Amino acid sequence: MRKIAVITGGGQGIGRAIALSFAREGYGISIADIHQDKGLETIELLRAFTDDALFMQVDVSRTEEVEQWLAHTSRVLGSIDVLVNNAGVMHNKDVLELRSDQFMHVIAVNLGGTFHCSQAAARIMKAQERGGAIINISSTRAVMSEPNTEAYSASKGGISALTHAMAISLGGYGIRVNAISPGWIEVRDDGSYSHSEADRNQHPVGRVGRPEDIAAACLYLASEKAGFLTGQNLTIDGGMSVKMIYAEE
Ligand code: ADP
Repeated sequence: MRKIAVITGGGQGIGRAIALSFAREGYGISIADIHQDKGLETIELLRAFTDDALFMQVDVSRTEEVEQWLAHTSRVLGSIDVLVNNAGVMHNKDVLELRSDQFMHVIAVNLGGTFHCSQAAARIMKAQERGGAIINISSTRAVMSEPNTEAYSASKGGISALTHAMAISLGGYGIRVNAISPGWIEVRDDGSYSHSEADRNQHPVGRVGRPEDIAAACLYLASEKAGFLTGQNLTIDGGMSVKMIYAEE
């Protein structure tokens, strides 16, 4: 049976790589992004793999837009089997200067958007009676931080918690919910990766991450091979988060 994957923030970077990977595996694709020009660029790239590729301009923090996108997708493509919540914003500002509206905007897009999309997709998946998979893109910043990343870190910590909460609530409908926490992912849409030797050497695996590293994990989490896996958070950071730092480094 042909499956459909829907991806938020598919207009560039990691979201675009995820969309292309699912299309290569034979999935029909629907992407949502707040930027129309970027979204349509991704659709052009998807055409090499599938005719079933939709784009809708959506602000994921707006419930009605999310519901319209997913209803339209299931009507036109026939189902929704996989949701990848990837859309996000980052707003780094001195914690003593960060305004409440700036903080709440990041929470509304990253955490609120993940919730709205998951709820709307889960309602459709439940009605389809064939289960589904939801994959949330969290971040290593859910559990560790640089200075002045409060809004982003809080939103990603929320996404990690939302993941296990929804996994419990939706398990009975055959819907699995997992998260991926990417570390340093170098995003170049032309495929060229720029980083120094020092950047590479910080990582136990000897390189920084690529969007394809995240896309490969999404494909696995969406597949039947991960049928016993739900409520989990997979850290993909080249080993950075488990590396012991010595004083002489
Ligand atoms: P990365 O480098 O991790 O891929 P980006 O910031 O490049 O991260 O990508 C995030 C994507 O999410 C972008 O395509 C961006 O346009 C999209 N996006 C940001 N805010 C929203 C929103 N409110 N609704 C939908 N998409 C959004």
